[in-house]
Amino acid sequence: MKRNTWQREAVRATLGETEGFVSAQGLHSRLHSTGSPIGLATVYRALADLALEGEADSLQSPEGESLYRACSTTDHHHHLICRRCGLTIEIEVDAVENWATNVAAEHGFSQAAHVIDIFGLCAACTGASVTA
Ligand SMILES: [Zn+2]
Ligand SMILES: [Zn+2]
Ligand SMILES: [Zn+2]
Repeated sequence: MKRNTWQREAVRATLGETEGFVSAQGLHSRLHSTGSPIGLATVYRALADLALEGEADSLQSPEGESLYRACSTTDHHHHLICRRCGLTIEIEVDAVENWATNVAAEHGFSQAAHVIDIFGLCAACTGASVTA
């Protein structure tokens, strides 16, 4: 299943150069601005593949859009994401891990996994919206 290899590499490389989380549409327009003829459907598929193989993190924005990012680690972690500028900070919080394990165990659940991402306004954007 190694179709569309150059497209996939282009998507992987562009994702690696992108700071925060990006939608398939956002990545597609970045690729287009560099002259790539890649199609939007191919970008969608490549991103989904990369996420499936653990090479990219994916999450749902509060608006229900799928967003992707090539994270610095494949270890379990969470994100703080600025909803205005896209600034993303990777966070690990032991208290959250313990809480999730405990609350699952209390209800008799095993193999519990969780996804927690925090959306907000970063300090710079908070300052900008105060003066705006
Ligand atoms: Zn991440
Ligand atoms: Zn921001
Ligand atoms: Zn966690």
